[in-house]
Amino acid sequence: MNFELTEDQKKIKESFARICDKEIAPRAEYIDKEAVFPKESIELLGKSGFLGMGFPEEYGGNPGDPITKALLGEELAKACASTYLSAGASAGLFAVPVWKFGTEVQKKKYLPSVLSGNNIGALAITEPHAGSDVMGIKTSARKKDKGWIINGSKTFITNGPVADYYVVVAYTDKEKKRDGISLFLVDNGTKGFSRGKPLEKLGVRGSPTSELFFDDCEIPEENLLGELNNGFYQLARTLTHGRIGMAVYSLGIAQACLEESMNYAQERTAFGRKLAYFQDIHFKIADMKMYIDVARELIYKAAWMLEQDDPQSILFASIAKLFTSEHATRIASDAVQIFGGYGFMKGYKVERLYRDAKLGEIGEGTSEIQRAIITKFVEDLY
Ligand SMILES: Cc1cc2nc3c(=O)[nH]c(=O)nc-3n(C[C@H](O)[C@H](O)[C@H](O)COP(=O)(O)OP(=O)(O)OC[C@H]3O[C@@H](n4cnc5c(N)ncnc54)[C@H](O)[C@@H]3O)c2cc1C
Repeated sequence: MNFELTEDQKKIKESFARICDKEIAPRAEYIDKEAVFPKESIELLGKSGFLGMGFPEEYGGNPGDPITKALLGEELAKACASTYLSAGASAGLFAVPVWKFGTEVQKKKYLPSVLSGNNIGALAITEPHAGSDVMGIKTSARKKDKGWIINGSKTFITNGPVADYYVVVAYTDKEKKRDGISLFLVDNGTKGFSRGKPLEKLGVRGSPTSELFFDDCEIPEENLLGELNNGFYQLARTLTHGRIGMAVYSLGIAQACLEESMNYAQERTAFGRKLAYFQDIHFKIADMKMYIDVARELIYKAAWMLEQDDPQSILFASIAKLFTSEHATRIASDAVQIFGGYGFMKGYKVERLYRDAKLGEIGEGTSEIQRAIITKFVEDLY
């Protein structure tokens, strides 16, 4: 087993980090404050090849291994969590199921424009009364002549107000429960489809989130994504990708907190000494470093297992997400503590990181749901 990054991985990481430092990070405070969607940054991520990394070249992708993708993702999340979240919802949560389960026509229609950053995608599962409990959704799709009629509503959808395309989860046969769920592609502008205003949020304010409404929304037959009534299982595969992506989100935030804390501890003085001299500060920084390094290894392992199609990747994606997100929240809290009163003030990066960190414990399945998944695997072992 070799834990060393290759020379290529180091080079790609360095050059992508430069793009993030120069083009993405300087806008992070503004897009958070004004709740502005960073469309130019998403286009830049398309041009740089980040969005298409690991996807087949014929659909606008480029070669890339899962470890390199995680390395770059960490740089992006460190620079701007909002940009990372919206990019991930588009080129991950939307594009992955299209790539894995779509027809040739669907892949050619949707992937090149989304992976280039010109168009934006979203994945719509959550409804006002059902988030963790996917089988509790009410949205339904009924067959009519040569098409489908969708009725229902969704909420908390990342990129909801700005997306061009949506993967929508709906019941096609409610009696069959999880074997009666299917995925559909809905283009913005389709008759009977509308979207709500951006919801006001605690964090990731530059990544717009909204409700979606389907009122006798009629889509063509060919907009069924993947196999009829197999949507629950397609979603499970998509969410394994998504959970690793969310773990990388938390990792980037945690690493940013560590770097901010180290710099501040060197600058700020109290009782005639730099903060960096105090043992309490050392302990916080040592814990940050320890949790971040363990999280990174967990993420790489989960990403590698998913690439191998290992069924245990579901377990390791949950472990990586749970560990990283819960420690990122703690690390962000400690970073604010190291900054004292300044950490509580707008305009200080750790204040934003603290707000952004919390989503890691909620999105792509809450911590409680990750624990339920892990327990299920443990039960199956004994
Ligand atoms: C900023 C943001 C972006 C999002 N983006 C998207 C998106 O792009 N697409 C999308 O579909 N959704 C999205 N979501 C929704 C997100 O996935 C859900 O909020 C999340 O899955 C939790 O669902 P819920 O909010 O309905 O909470 P609930 O499911 O109602 O859960 C409430 C509480 O009960 C706990 N709980 C529920 N069931 C159990 C159980 N079995 N055991 C123990 N505890 C349990 C939960 O862990 C939680 O603490 C987003 C949410 C946010 C905040």
